[in-house]
Amino acid sequence: MNIGFIGLGNMGGPMAANLAKAGHSVTGFDMADVSIEGVTMVASAAEAATGADVVITMLPNGQILRAVADDVIPAMAEGATLVDCSTVDVDSARAVADQAGSANLMFVDAPVSGGIGGASGGTLTFMAGGSAAAFAAAEPLFDIMGQKAVHCGDAGAGQAAKICNNMILGITMIGTCEAFALADKLGLDRQKMFDVVSTSSGYSWSMNAYCPAPGVGPQSPADNDYQPGFAAELMLKDLRLAQQAAHSADADTPMGALAQALYSMFVEEEGGAGKDFSAMLPRFEARSRHD
Ligand code: NAD
Repeated sequence: MNIGFIGLGNMGGPMAANLAKAGHSVTGFDMADVSIEGVTMVASAAEAATGADVVITMLPNGQILRAVADDVIPAMAEGATLVDCSTVDVDSARAVADQAGSANLMFVDAPVSGGIGGASGGTLTFMAGGSAAAFAAAEPLFDIMGQKAVHCGDAGAGQAAKICNNMILGITMIGTCEAFALADKLGLDRQKMFDVVSTSSGYSWSMNAYCPAPGVGPQSPADNDYQPGFAAELMLKDLRLAQQAAHSADADTPMGALAQALYSMFVEEEGGAGKDFSAMLPRFEARSRHD
């Protein structure tokens, strides 16, 4: 296939490289001066989209996606497919889907989970929204860049799945960290705490696969001085998207709102920016009930 790839950052770069390695012809554009093995870089998003069967975007947010879509959609041939893999608000995903539909293009919103390791290893999970035909057009590429793709429903359903998942993740990470801090103050050994919780009803991905306590459980960013991993500010971005969606859908999400408030304090007032999102544990450790 001829593939246009726009946004070749930490995630997009290795994803595009994997498509090129699998034998596809990949033309790339990024605002920054980047070079990716096997990818032919061009001078604009419209140029990368011209003649492409599939255009993939991997961009920071919904506003940028909408601006790039304005450039890319008119350049694409009728019947081609636009696949947005960025994490953006549901409203932007649906707006770009409508714009693509009006130009007789297919559209899939397909945010990912699996982080930078998953992007370079080709083991991402894609959660996709769009028509069955659009999903079928993109699926062979998901198979190269990832290990699993779930067709979640119509346009926007992929973003909905992503923010619901990450809202759970933010809430359980905070719960796991505050429980460790409480256990410390009760004199409970962290390894014992892990041994019990990881095999009891308090278990979760945050505890079992990404334990926030250094030296306990599997290797995780906690063992590397909380270098991300998944940065606290990216978690904050996703929690804000979840609250934005909850607001427009009139859903009651008090735990999600509290998780957003805590990550916002952590990132914007307490020096949490640039640290892994599991660095909530040293934050709680350093606090008392009256802080
Ligand atoms: P990044 O900042 O490394 O990459 C974004 C790239 O987009 C940059 O290279 C930037 O120069 C480029 N860009 C910005 N505006 C542009 C424009 N108008 N035209 C062309 N290029 C433009 O970010 P990332 O970590 O690769 O994340 C990309 C997306 O994936 C985000 O939506 C993020 O939330 C999501 N995501 C990231 C991770 C992760 O672990 N990093 C995991 C899952 C999802």
